[in-house]
Amino acid sequence: MTTDGTAPEARESAARSPFMLSTWSFGERANAAAWPALAAGGSSMDAVEAVSIFCEDDPEIDSVGYGGLPDRDGEMSLDGCIMASPEQCGSVCAIRRHRHPVSIARLVMQHTPHIMLAGEGADDFADQHGQQVEELLAPRAREAWVKWKQENPDQARGVRPVDRDRGGQLFASGNDESRWKDLHDTIGVLAIDEQGTLAGACSTSGMPWKVPGRVGDSPIIGHGLYVDPYGGAAVATGTGELVMAICGSFLAVELMRGGAMPRDAITEVLDRIASRSDLKPEHQLAVIALRPDGHWGSGALRPGFRLAASDAGGHQLLEPEIVRLPGT
Ligand code: ASP
Repeated sequence: MTTDGTAPEARESAARSPFMLSTWSFGERANAAAWPALAAGGSSMDAVEAVSIFCEDDPEIDSVGYGGLPDRDGEMSLDGCIMASPEQCGSVCAIRRHRHPVSIARLVMQHTPHIMLAGEGADDFADQHGQQVEELLAPRAREAWVKWKQENPDQARGVRPVDRDRGGQLFASGNDESRWKDLHDTIGVLAIDEQGTLAGACSTSGMPWKVPGRVGDSPIIGHGLYVDPYGGAAVATGTGELVMAICGSFLAVELMRGGAMPRDAITEVLDRIASRSDLKPEHQLAVIALRPDGHWGSGALRPGFRLAASDAGGHQLLEPEIVRLPGT
């Protein structure tokens, strides 16, 4: 494994080596669970779905699937998408009864002429395709919501906007990932298989305490995730509204399609976001990107982001190459 953004083997050769990149530190254990099948010749599409399912099932991950934190009214809603190319992508948002949005998104891709299903229709579609109905709100997440509601009565009643900074406590200090805990944890995963096929997925319960009905970047093709076999793949995590304003994942892939290295494409995405005048202290945004030739990169607006890279040499937890606003 090299950590300079170059996958270990020359991907120019016909024989490809599988490689996988995921957001946040929990991506490492999710990668480890999905890796054996990818290493044994499995498809990148199966691998990114497997990583997503692993995180959606883990109640300790409080912004993905079961265990995610609910909206302002204590209701859970999940978003996710999967993509291999502009012709092969699927997405769902505002899922309330099923735990695996990426799997439902893949079913949308396979069994409908559409790309995105939302809300009740998406849940009904999941029922029709055999997805199990499951409780999404874990006891721990409910307790966290009750505590938030007690401590923030005006916000819980919707008469004040949700204070994402929670009095500045979360952002007072620290350069580690725990600083962003409870705020940003979308699993975003990119993989290339031994056929050289790229795929990506992302899955999230969105922002905790969000206004009911809010949908972020994660399930929207070109915002949270984009994959183009001729350009590469990129996935974002963090404050969805920031990346939605600039079509961030599409932008990164389009720049790579024009020849940019992943780190340069990511730098351009972060520069556009950093130049926004209304950037708030609680805003964070991170992007990981992978080119079809195996070059990859990572970057974040602020310190604290981690990513997990997996290849035949093992699984590594890494700091991003670029931190656009260090010391913030
Ligand atoms: N990007 C996700 C959203 O805005 C949240 C996250 O990545 O933590 O819904």
